[in-house]
Amino acid sequence: MSVDKVVRDIVRSEVERMIAPLAAAVENLQHQGTLAQKLTALLGASPKRGPGRKLSLKSMLGNKKRIRVEGATDRPCALIGCERDARSKGYCAAHYQKLRMLARTGRLPLGWSEYAPPHSVKDIVLPRGRAGAKALAAARKVKR
Ligand SMILES: [Zn+2]
Repeated sequence: MSVDKVVRDIVRSEVERMIAPLAAAVENLQHQGTLAQKLTALLGASPKRGPGRKLSLKSMLGNKKRIRVEGATDRPCALIGCERDARSKGYCAAHYQKLRMLARTGRLPLGWSEYAPPHSVKDIVLPRGRAGAKALAAARKVKR
């Protein structure tokens, strides 16, 4: 019984000796935390918004639409509902790439012609996933 108590005391003192620096560090951190809280309270600033927080580009620009893109013309994109300026063959960069992809895969709809008037072409939603792969394979089979 007494041997057990002696061993426990030894272990306890050893553990306390080992974690003493850690306890001091934690105490120091807590002190710094309260100091920071006091400072922010004195300055009247929100403690959540630190100096490391940056504003995003989007928030700085606000919700301004139509940022000018290099190579864009004054003419709007041929697609109905697209706010970007035309860049190639009457289409904006994104929709010109879609036009090229549709032409390459033999799936170009009737309205999608080059130099179509602005806001005259109806956008198409392509099937995704397994349905998309099926449609693409069918289009390729017809092409050959
Ligand atoms: Zn477009």
